[in-house]
Amino acid sequence: MVQESKFKVGIIGGGPAGCMCAYFLQKACDVIVFEKNSPLKTLLPTGGGRCNLAHCEYDIKEFVANYPRGEKFLYSVFAKFSTAETIDFFNSIGIETYTQKDFRIFPTSNSSVDVREKFLRAIKYVNFINEKALRVNCATDLKTVVTDKGSYNFDFVIIATGGHASYNICKYLGHKIIPPKKALVGLKTKQNLSALAGVSIKVNGEDLLFTHQGISGPFAYKLSSIKARDKFPYNITLRLSNIDTPLQELLNHSPHKDIKNVLSDILPKSLAAYILGTLNINSSIKAHQINGTLRDKIIEKINNFELTITDTSSGGEVVTCGGVALDEINAKTMESKLIPNIYFCGEVLDIDGFCGGFNLQNCWSTGYVAAQAILEKSKSSNKLL
Ligand SMILES: Cc1cc2nc3c(=O)[nH]c(=O)nc-3n(C[C@H](O)[C@H](O)[C@H](O)COP(=O)(O)OP(=O)(O)OC[C@H]3O[C@@H](n4cnc5c(N)ncnc54)[C@H](O)[C@@H]3O)c2cc1C
Repeated sequence: MVQESKFKVGIIGGGPAGCMCAYFLQKACDVIVFEKNSPLKTLLPTGGGRCNLAHCEYDIKEFVANYPRGEKFLYSVFAKFSTAETIDFFNSIGIETYTQKDFRIFPTSNSSVDVREKFLRAIKYVNFINEKALRVNCATDLKTVVTDKGSYNFDFVIIATGGHASYNICKYLGHKIIPPKKALVGLKTKQNLSALAGVSIKVNGEDLLFTHQGISGPFAYKLSSIKARDKFPYNITLRLSNIDTPLQELLNHSPHKDIKNVLSDILPKSLAAYILGTLNINSSIKAHQINGTLRDKIIEKINNFELTITDTSSGGEVVTCGGVALDEINAKTMESKLIPNIYFCGEVLDIDGFCGGFNLQNCWSTGYVAAQAILEKSKSSNKLL
């Protein structure tokens, strides 16, 4: 009689990516997840506690355009596992979802606590070990995960340590690390905008919030992502109002109104006062006193409002731009091109997306692809499953 033996798989990191991978491997392999903290704890703050777990976009070309890093790499990943498969997966573990007007997908419970609990229940065959992995030795065919408390041998090791962890494990394996930068964060400005703190406007269809330090909100997060590799300081130009009515028409309509009140029809009051202040225009002069030169200065300021961005600030989703270089990873399998049977998934890779469910989608999809690749290898080997 042939003795049945399962492949041993070690996963470093019990975040969304590591747990996704563990889910698909748990029945066919002996799976150990090393988690230095608590499994899926990083899921709790997502979506402001509501867990924006995916994005409703079924066209892969449109979908990958939301990843400033990883766009090309993710084509084949999403061809295998994308929005539809993600919704099916969550449904299958008892999590119903719904789509918001802005195409973000949430659990119907609106609770990341609920998602975490159900997900953890669904990976009951996985053995979680609360230890910090220090390195992976690959001297023999077996891979040895060395932790702060012991060492463990595996046939396959998956690295899913996320974006904010140190990259020592990856460097030790010889992998190139693209230097990490913060993305999806608020931004500090050289200009003192504290008089505008709390004011919100729409820029390019996205909400921009002024803060004591600079700017925040979806517009700033997206900007921080697009510009994550730019050196500080850099300048940006904003169009503050999309009202098409010419300013002259507004001035003519209310000649005896204070200029600050005329502008308040198209901008928040404090922003109108701020603009007049930067132009040294007395905010109480009447509309009919605004001559052509002053009018053009005001229009220019509203249409081309310049800010100098000096640094990132707190707030936002804080994902990492940078990580394990993608040219050393096989996009079809997530396997290292340098060392066979070592895999990577999730934010540890040099992949990051905009707000809206794209970063978790990267974890679900790369986690799934790594698991499937290991299952395929297992099938073609002579070990029985
Ligand atoms: C506040 C906030 C809100 C967010 N909201 C959303 C959202 O709504 N939608 C969305 O798509 N994305 C969101 N994101 C981004 C998303 O949470 C991350 O992209 C995602 O968690 C990355 O998953 P991961 O498994 O790759 O890494 P992580 O979630 O970082 O998990 C890695 C795990 O590995 C463990 N680990 C690390 N090193 C070791 C080691 N040496 N040994 C053992 N364990 C180790 C860590 O403790 C951690 O548990 C948000 C992020 C933040 C910060």
